Amino acid sequence: MPDIIAAIDEALGCHECGGPLEGSVDHDFCSERCHRAWHGRRVGVTPETSLDELVHDIRVQLGAEHVEVPAERREEIGRALDEARRHLPDDVVSTLRSIMETALRVDAAIGDHEQRRQHSSH
Ligand SMILES: [Zn+2]
Repeated sequence: MPDIIAAIDEALGCHECGGPLEGSVDHDFCSERCHRAWHGRRVGVTPETSLDELVHDIRVQLGAEHVEVPAERREEIGRALDEARRHLPDDVVSTLRSIMETALRVDAAIGDHEQRRQHSSH
């Protein structure tokens, strides 16, 4: 039964661009790009947003574009990543680093925003 479904999907091609699914791990889309574009339209967000762009947008909205992550927070994350490197493959560690970097920068921007709000309300 799943074979038939896969065959139908393959005949239909990519749900986004109609292209062939050959070599794609996904049964519905030819590429991750198409998958995101299709999904993005359904949920009404702009597709293809990288973590960096996301961080940038959040920082701009908070008015904290130029806030730096405190060194001691970076050290914490550095230690956690060193630990992770001992147990995890390189590509997983680099993904982790990218996610943690994003979280750190957003966190710093939110902290800055909160501080400024408190100052202005006094
Ligand atoms: Zn496609």
